[in-house]
Amino acid sequence: MHEHHQVERLVQTLLTAAPGRKIKSVRLVMGELLGFDETSVRLYFENFTEGTPAEGAEVSVRWVPGELHCSVCKSHFVKIKSQLNCPTCGNQGKPTDTGKEFFFEAVVTD
Ligand SMILES: [Zn+2]
Repeated sequence: MHEHHQVERLVQTLLTAAPGRKIKSVRLVMGELLGFDETSVRLYFENFTEGTPAEGAEVSVRWVPGELHCSVCKSHFVKIKSQLNCPTCGNQGKPTDTGKEFFFEAVVTD
């Protein structure tokens, strides 16, 4: 249940950034490497914004594909599903910071 705390923190940041403003919609960036479940994230968002100016805000999600780094041939590649192996040399890649994003990139207020 990683999503729970992450969404709580994100909502707090959101409400602090736009004090007293009615929030109409937000666009959330989510990295695929986080392994978050969009349905859960949306549900937690609804829970944490209840009774706040962000209640009922429309949430859209932009997924960022996970990128892996191969330490053998030094290539970067995009992770497809649960495939971790480098398409060039077959070695197992290590996660990079690309694909771990979790933030609001756009907030529309009244
Ligand atoms: Zn490789």
